[in-house]
Amino acid sequence: MLAAEDTAEEHGLSPHTRSTCYVHRCWTHQCVGDPLHVLIATGHRWCRRCECPVDVAVDETPPGAVHLFCPRCGQAGSAANRDVRQACRTSLAAMHGGDAPTLYGIPDA
Ligand SMILES: [Zn+2]
Ligand SMILES: [Zn+2]
Repeated sequence: MLAAEDTAEEHGLSPHTRSTCYVHRCWTHQCVGDPLHVLIATGHRWCRRCECPVDVAVDETPPGAVHLFCPRCGQAGSAANRDVRQACRTSLAAMHGGDAPTLYGIPDA
């Protein structure tokens, strides 16, 4: 799945809507809290109103839940942050769908 998404990205899949993380090599929802995933330029995990990073709360218990919220204004309603939430939901669903063994079996060739 990860390799499939690497290929798909070369063909135009947005890196922000992937269900796996190219950098951390894991599910998007598992590393989305990493400071690396705050993209000020595009507004991903960033609140433009408050100019601060948006927090992410992920509940991995099926069916899974993802909440994005700005610690200052409580909002995270931008299109970019909706992308982040959607990517995390897709990632959670894929994980519960049983794709994990394949994911972690991919060598770093
Ligand atoms: Zn990551
Ligand atoms: Zn805010």
